Amino acid sequence: MMEFQFHQPASLAEAFDLLNTYGDDARIMAGGTGLVLQMKQRLAQPGHVISLRRIPGLNNIEAAADYHGAMRIGALCTHWQVETSSLVQRQTPLLAQTYRHVATPRIRQMATVGGGLVHGDPNQDPPPSLIVLDASAVIASASGQRIVPVEKLFVDYFETDLQPGEILTSVLAPRAPEGAGTAYLKFLPRTADDYPTVSVAVVVTPGPRNVCRDVRIALGAVDVKPVRAAQAEDLLKGKPLTKANIQACAAAVPDLVEPLDDYRGSADYKREMAAVFTRRAITQALASVGKG
Ligand SMILES: Cc1cc2nc3c(=O)[nH]c(=O)nc-3n(C[C@H](O)[C@H](O)[C@H](O)COP(=O)(O)OP(=O)(O)OC[C@H]3O[C@@H](n4cnc5c(N)ncnc54)[C@H](O)[C@@H]3O)c2cc1C
Repeated sequence: MMEFQFHQPASLAEAFDLLNTYGDDARIMAGGTGLVLQMKQRLAQPGHVISLRRIPGLNNIEAAADYHGAMRIGALCTHWQVETSSLVQRQTPLLAQTYRHVATPRIRQMATVGGGLVHGDPNQDPPPSLIVLDASAVIASASGQRIVPVEKLFVDYFETDLQPGEILTSVLAPRAPEGAGTAYLKFLPRTADDYPTVSVAVVVTPGPRNVCRDVRIALGAVDVKPVRAAQAEDLLKGKPLTKANIQACAAAVPDLVEPLDDYRGSADYKREMAAVFTRRAITQALASVGKG
């Protein structure tokens, strides 16, 4: 690994100053699980690494009074913190379940919520669940703050909407709608600590006479970025939640994704599995309705 200077700012203002001073030669580090690997492989060669660890206020999980009762999850919260938080388990169990699916406890105790999102790896577990919950990323810079829906955060393969000089400071995660069921399924044919071959998150809200009032479906590992399957959702909204209608909705998914061939499966196999796991995720989400 090349030599670099390690900075530990004690405030966001100090971190913004460092980013502005060193520009392209600087990289933010949170848990380091993604960045250090990239540096070892020489995919990233920053001369300056700016750690967020000493900046106070970035690792809390709390109710965000100013955002319609959403939870504010600090960017520096580890995956482990999200998985074990009683507030998350009570308010948004889908997120606790999803973060529990990431890699191993060792990784989950290092990797952070913000680092995971900015890393932009399309195979990561959390983005599909954050997308179906309509979560947003809070992004700050020396000139202010902006809020970007997680659905719009991913631009391309390992590329996000974050601009030079910006730091992701928290994630706003709303509760699932009243009466909704949720599920996150990770298809793992290899080892239990691997990235998914295909992953699917669903939030479905049944209405009177078992008609689908609303459904949100997002997938990971099936394209260069996480995919919201809006056209498949449209096939189920307003229809009875029968096996046939769920099957028809899931069958539309393969045409909405562009998987890459890799050692976890061919693109064709992943397309097929995307449909299978979407059907299962909708069914599992429905079974969870009323169970908290
Ligand atoms: C062996 C292994 C297995 C894994 N398996 C899985 C898995 O199955 N599923 C899964 O979802 N994840 C998995 N991960 C974790 C995932 O791939 C990332 O490594 C992790 O989420 C990155 O988080 P981090 O806090 O360590 O980020 P870092 O490595 O510190 O940073 C990652 C990137 O984000 C930038 N960055 C970090 N924080 C911020 C911020 N707040 N604002 C702006 N930029 C920022 C950095 O500059 C860097 O570009 C695995 C990781 C490893 C090492």
